[in-house]
Amino acid sequence: MIDEILEKIKTYKRIIIHRHIRPDGDCIGSQRALKEAILLNFPDKEVYAVGDEIPSFIKEYGIIDEVSKDMYKGSLVIVVDTGTRVRICNDNYALGECIIKIDHHDDSEDYASINYVDPLSPACASILVRLFKQWHFKLNKDIATYLYLAITTDTGRFRYRGVNEEVLNNAGYLLSYGVDTEKLYTSIYIKDDVTYKLQGYVYQHFKKTPNGVAYMYFTKKMMAKFNVTKEDAANLVNALDGIRGSLIWVVFVDQLKKHKKNVSSKEEDPGCEIRVRLRSRYVAINEVGTHYRGGGHLQAAGAIIYSKKEMKSLLQELDTLLKTFKEQNPMLY
Ligand code: AMP
Repeated sequence: MIDEILEKIKTYKRIIIHRHIRPDGDCIGSQRALKEAILLNFPDKEVYAVGDEIPSFIKEYGIIDEVSKDMYKGSLVIVVDTGTRVRICNDNYALGECIIKIDHHDDSEDYASINYVDPLSPACASILVRLFKQWHFKLNKDIATYLYLAITTDTGRFRYRGVNEEVLNNAGYLLSYGVDTEKLYTSIYIKDDVTYKLQGYVYQHFKKTPNGVAYMYFTKKMMAKFNVTKEDAANLVNALDGIRGSLIWVVFVDQLKKHKKNVSSKEEDPGCEIRVRLRSRYVAINEVGTHYRGGGHLQAAGAIIYSKKEMKSLLQELDTLLKTFKEQNPMLY
């Protein structure tokens, strides 16, 4: 399959690379690296990167190209880091003549003609490094930096369980191109002081369910008070990652986007979509995400909810999950 992908890249003159909605570091880094690597190795190709807004902490690494519907005619589309069809940013991807998917999600669905998926890879970018090595692609410092950004963010700086020999070898290979890790980490991990103030608030005010699911709800009002964006607030999810006994932690973030679903008439409901970021140690939480319009990896998943009632029932499900896990694994927390 790896050779088949290269053959398609060689065959098509125009290649359009798609990513998932609400892009993260792996998605942005993989997309940009694939674009630049194809251009470096095949300078006569036209390669575009499609998608909407890039979060500010990785803005300088991503790119948004303008591509009209007509341009998809006779083109190759490659979708990176996107498990399911509904998560693909921009439906125009389906207009491509040939579609290739390169991904690492557990809840993957075959939506392409070639689906290259490795759920054991903790970052999509590590799969790309594997392909680039097999294809004997030339790389450069910029491409290596995009890939390193992608791998380091999706592995929590090489901390997560999925980190394996291949990933560390690939990271070492990328460093050999001169990636400036200090500059990279400064640009992606430095936060404004207002965000630290909100983080302090999180430590003071986070809540726990009876069996230890730690959570925080960032409301519109709170984000306005602290003068932070919803993205800054969402990025605080891992402020809750080291609490003894809290093997599952969650943040809820008002999306400031009105929804029409009249799921609750209660005044306390925000009337907007609420983004849910779910994280865990040991316990698989992605299935719970799928009950609330979401999914993702075993220990890093997401969901979308529309009311306080849904928030309550999601927390209830996670609480039950954690209770069962603790009963069965008393040594692990
Ligand atoms: P996030 O918390 O947004 O970083 O998401 C963690 C993981 O869950 C990523 O791999 C996402 O692709 C996946 N994910 C997040 N939200 C959703 C969703 N609504 N549906 C399916 N997968 C999601």
